[in-house]
Amino acid sequence: MIPAAFDYVAPTSVEEAVAALAEHGDDAKIIAGGQSLLPVLRMRLNAPEWVIDLGRIDTLRGVRDAGDHLAIGAMTTHHDVGNDPSVAEHALLITKAITHLADAQVRHRGTFGGALAHADPAGDLGAPALALESTFVVQGPGGTRSVPAADFFVDLFETAIGDDEILVEIQVPKRTGWGASYEKFVRVAHQWPIVAVAATVRVEGGTIAEARVGLTNMGSTPVRATATEQALVGQPATEEAVAVAAALAAEGTNPPSDLNGDADYRRHLATVLTRRAVLAAAG
Ligand SMILES: Cc1cc2nc3c(=O)[nH]c(=O)nc-3n(C[C@H](O)[C@H](O)[C@H](O)COP(=O)(O)OP(=O)(O)OC[C@H]3O[C@@H](n4cnc5c(N)ncnc54)[C@H](O)[C@@H]3O)c2cc1C
Repeated sequence: MIPAAFDYVAPTSVEEAVAALAEHGDDAKIIAGGQSLLPVLRMRLNAPEWVIDLGRIDTLRGVRDAGDHLAIGAMTTHHDVGNDPSVAEHALLITKAITHLADAQVRHRGTFGGALAHADPAGDLGAPALALESTFVVQGPGGTRSVPAADFFVDLFETAIGDDEILVEIQVPKRTGWGASYEKFVRVAHQWPIVAVAATVRVEGGTIAEARVGLTNMGSTPVRATATEQALVGQPATEEAVAVAAALAAEGTNPPSDLNGDADYRRHLATVLTRRAVLAAAG
């Protein structure tokens, strides 16, 4: 279907984009790569009067080394983040997750910030961003503010970004030397996961010293498998020890039931994928 008619503006700075958002309010919608928004407009599930395109704001693109963290511009494409050597060096979990995200065309158009702002619980970037304890920088009329990942994902397709704000940057603390793996369970290639697990661990002399595990599509937002994380610390990186910790992965989750699988099936998948992801991450 063809989207309903809208007016279009393409500002060249974040300040101009924020001003356009303030001017048009509820009648406006931000567009980044358009990979999620355009299908919504074409199905006429949303019909904004104004579309504000962030594509001409150069300052929103790129990955910057900011000392203890990487600063990823919201408009950096999945392709560019996935191929950035500093991301592979300091936040390998993100590189791994992006190799599983959609297909090459979507990765060239879709953006890191757009996917996170969209907050699809089946999206592949939420769990890695959460597990890596990222910080989300948003900008509105009053300036910028930082939102920790634990507070960013509010509900299904809902984030802490205010109606008058734009996500500008995602700050990912460096975890240099940590192993990482993203295990995604799909029925058909290039699809959103039924369940996926993002795991990153630091192994010291054969023992797991630190672990972070995020779960995709195990609730209305990405969630941390905290019981598993705690159970892994101090354990040998062996199949037996990891299996015991992975069995706790679904604790406290509230997965959906749908045509792809019921909640119990998803809980089972979460434990199996967590075991695989942690073992792969631990090498
Ligand atoms: C065929 C296909 C397959 C896909 N498969 C997968 C998959 O396997 N895994 C996966 O994770 N994703 C998948 N996607 C989605 C893809 O990752 C999109 O890139 C992503 O969901 C949206 O990013 P975007 O830049 O295109 O954002 P857009 O579609 O432009 O925007 C998405 C939403 O976020 C808002 N928004 C965007 N940027 C900002 C910002 N900076 N500040 C505030 N709000 C903002 C928009 O207003 C809109 O509501 C797929 C998409 C397609 C078309």
